[in-house]
Amino acid sequence: MSDYRLNTKCVQGGYRPGNGEPRQIPIIQSTTFKYDTSEDMGKLFDLEASGYFYTRLQNPTNDHVAAKIAELEGGTAAMLTSSGQAANFYALFNICECGSHIVASSSIYGGTFNLIAVTMKKMGIDVTFVSPDADEAELDAAFKENTRAMFGETIANPALTVLDIELFAKVAHKHGVPLIIDNTFPTPVNCRPIEWGADIVTHSTTKYMDGHGAGVGGAIIDSGNFDWMAHKDRFPGLTTPDDSYHGIVYAEKFGKGGAFITKATSQLMRDFGSIQSPQNAFILNLGLESLHVRMPRHIENGQAVAEFLEAQTDKIESVNYPGLKSNKYHERAEKYFGNGGCGVVSFVLKGGRSAAESFMKKLKLAAIETHVADARTCCLNPATSTHRQMTEEQLEAAGIPAGMVRMSCGLEDKEDLIADLKQALN
Ligand SMILES: *Cc1c(COP(=O)(O)O)cnc(C)c1O
Repeated sequence: MSDYRLNTKCVQGGYRPGNGEPRQIPIIQSTTFKYDTSEDMGKLFDLEASGYFYTRLQNPTNDHVAAKIAELEGGTAAMLTSSGQAANFYALFNICECGSHIVASSSIYGGTFNLIAVTMKKMGIDVTFVSPDADEAELDAAFKENTRAMFGETIANPALTVLDIELFAKVAHKHGVPLIIDNTFPTPVNCRPIEWGADIVTHSTTKYMDGHGAGVGGAIIDSGNFDWMAHKDRFPGLTTPDDSYHGIVYAEKFGKGGAFITKATSQLMRDFGSIQSPQNAFILNLGLESLHVRMPRHIENGQAVAEFLEAQTDKIESVNYPGLKSNKYHERAEKYFGNGGCGVVSFVLKGGRSAAESFMKKLKLAAIETHVADARTCCLNPATSTHRQMTEEQLEAAGIPAGMVRMSCGLEDKEDLIADLKQALN
């Protein structure tokens, strides 16, 4: 499908049925696969032949959907995981081990922040967080002898900071490590980080890719660009024999294009088992088939809501949306997306926590949910939900004012969304 445009890949990528085969991707709801001889199966275990033997490692439904996502991001290989959390953990742990160090943007999803700062730290993996606004010298200074990966989010959830992917990639490569980018918010419809130098891309497919609040899932995509063998000593897991797989050297056997995903599948998925169910992969693919049609509408609604809110100066203290000309990241958003990048808008109501609470209670279309990137508009007040344990002072220090509302604009009519906001504000 590489010659086709992105819209066509959304609809038909990843699966080309043969004569008389199902038009839609079949759901192979089977844990296991049958073979005629032990020799046939042995070849699969030795990674000498490709094929399926157990769904914890690979499943045809998942592979079709992963292949579509690889095409959309412009990568050479991809895999699905049970969640976005699993995708980010696998992407990092595939090249990090006890004693390694990660450089990560400080402006990332809270779950990923905890994963890196708390849980991976317990595994002996250290981290230095850098500002998404750091310049080249500041980024350089964060690297150490044992740094193995650089990590950031294209548009951070929920801060909506926009990463300078090109600069981060340049610095990562200068230090001989890959750049891993979580591209959940813009999706490949708005930004393809590999085109700007990212080596590995991850997704919480739970968000826009699924788009209907139906299935939790994740994905990892390899650009095939990072030369593991050129940094042999830094990535022994890819460049030296894997004793748990008869001494296979992934980077030699599967090359730049296949080593990373093959290792993550045959080692991490084998041992941790965070698979996506074939049922969920099927649902995810239904979402992908309309991703290119839905994203422009999410952004149109996000832009309209942000512009409306920005004009309500008597009730609204500030509005954060990269598509607004007043936004700190507007120029970067123009460069990387040519628009606001996603449908999520955050704003601060005058009157703090109580104003936010009573405003949200009055909303009729926008539901209060711990979710974003759904077809249905939803909103959340971090101070009374995700960041509930924090005091007023701690919230201010974390850049999350008590009156802040995060609104994920869905696919409804923008006039209706604005009318809903108007009556709630009044
Ligand atoms: C939601 C989210 C995650 C975590 O994904 P889950 O599917 O909820 O595990 C990771 N990164 C970003 C940017 C997210 O928005």
